[in-house]
Amino acid sequence: MSTRPSLAAALVALTAPATAQQVAPVVVDPAVAKLRDAALSDTLAFEITEGLTTEVGPRLAATEAEARGRSWAVAKLKALGFRNVRVETFIMPVWLRGAERGEIVAPYPQAVALTALGNSGATPPEGLTAEVAVFRTFAELAAAPDGSLKGKIAYIGHAMQPTQDGSSYGAFGAARRAGPALAARKGAVAVVIRSIGTDFHRNPHTGSTNWPQGVQPIPAAALSVSDAQLLERIAERGKPIRLHLTLTPRFAGQGTSGNVIGEVPGSDPQAGIVLVGGHLDSWDLGTGALDDAAGLGIVTAAAKRILDGSRPRRTIRVVWYGAEEVGGLGGRDYARVHAGERHATASESDFGADRIWRFEVNLPPSAAGVADRLQAVLAPLGITRGSGPAGNGTDIAPLFAQGVGAVDLNQSGLQYFDTHHTPDDTLERIDPAQLQQNVAAWTAMLAVVANAPEEIGPVAPRK
Ligand code: ZN
Ligand code: ZN
Repeated sequence: MSTRPSLAAALVALTAPATAQQVAPVVVDPAVAKLRDAALSDTLAFEITEGLTTEVGPRLAATEAEARGRSWAVAKLKALGFRNVRVETFIMPVWLRGAERGEIVAPYPQAVALTALGNSGATPPEGLTAEVAVFRTFAELAAAPDGSLKGKIAYIGHAMQPTQDGSSYGAFGAARRAGPALAARKGAVAVVIRSIGTDFHRNPHTGSTNWPQGVQPIPAAALSVSDAQLLERIAERGKPIRLHLTLTPRFAGQGTSGNVIGEVPGSDPQAGIVLVGGHLDSWDLGTGALDDAAGLGIVTAAAKRILDGSRPRRTIRVVWYGAEEVGGLGGRDYARVHAGERHATASESDFGADRIWRFEVNLPPSAAGVADRLQAVLAPLGITRGSGPAGNGTDIAPLFAQGVGAVDLNQSGLQYFDTHHTPDDTLERIDPAQLQQNVAAWTAMLAVVANAPEEIGPVAPRK
């Protein structure tokens, strides 16, 4: 059970008189407040999360499992009454996991728990054995002389801690995203990293790594955090470490992925589309409940609440993106195909299912009132207004690069990286009450933004 204060307690705290807190003098539209409060009893977001994880399961990009996910999505969006439901496919490289095992051969022989990173190269079928060069940080690896890792397995550690805003993922995630390529350039034959995670379960966290043009993929795996600490303790004893690694993933040519789209038609086609999304693909270790079935459930349930009411001014477009995990390919394809259409705002839910604590916007000055109304309507849900410009979401980043406005609803990241990209990303991680708070926030956001009388025109493109 959660040890955090309940939403009810948070609501009581927030209705206490404001003291130092700045409260915008905005009256909440009673119709919007009613929509928000009704959404606190939502069951659809959980139903979608439960259905997708039960009836489809893991959904690795460009596999037949992701294709089954698209069929499931089309049937669900149509059954819910969304309009213009369609799939927009694209072609992409396919990467498939193989066998994965690791053993410390010396000085203290024992097996370790690891998993291949997405896009990892392969060892020979019988595996490879090499000495480990231990780098406790990405910066230590970066400082290693060229050629110094020849014939070695590089280990890359980090000191990631949980943060509410999730910023530690960006800061420490370089060990996974860029570490293997950097080690390969310095001559390493393979790489193991400390999982980009904040738990001490013996579950490795997968996730993509990148190979810039000209860098040949080498075997790259994540050790569970416990096994990474084990390796570091052995290194402290000053004895050479030899590791045996067997990783047999493969690149399997080109395959098909796709984005699934459904709409709530608006009354004013000139006013721009309000896009909300999440991603349909997942890693293959768990069932992708937190990442990102819950996000799809949240945004779809919120849009459905607008669909069932009076017609909004702006069209709300719900996008279930394909192939996010392996490099944001669905988001890039969407932005290319729809570059000619006017989008007012884009928002993505892709940070689990914990409660939303903050919102941020990136809107033109003409729409300043929209943010004030959001502040007023979201405050009773325990959500405060942040000062940074919004712009989260891998799938919608290409739209921000085109000058589309943003509204971010930020979930707490304090627990997200305990199970992110692990076998434990399953339905049991979802707290239905937290999910309802999310749906209430997204419903209120859509009611405000889709109906705003102000112009929500382009903003400065974000790169
Ligand atoms: Zn995700
Ligand atoms: Zn992910």
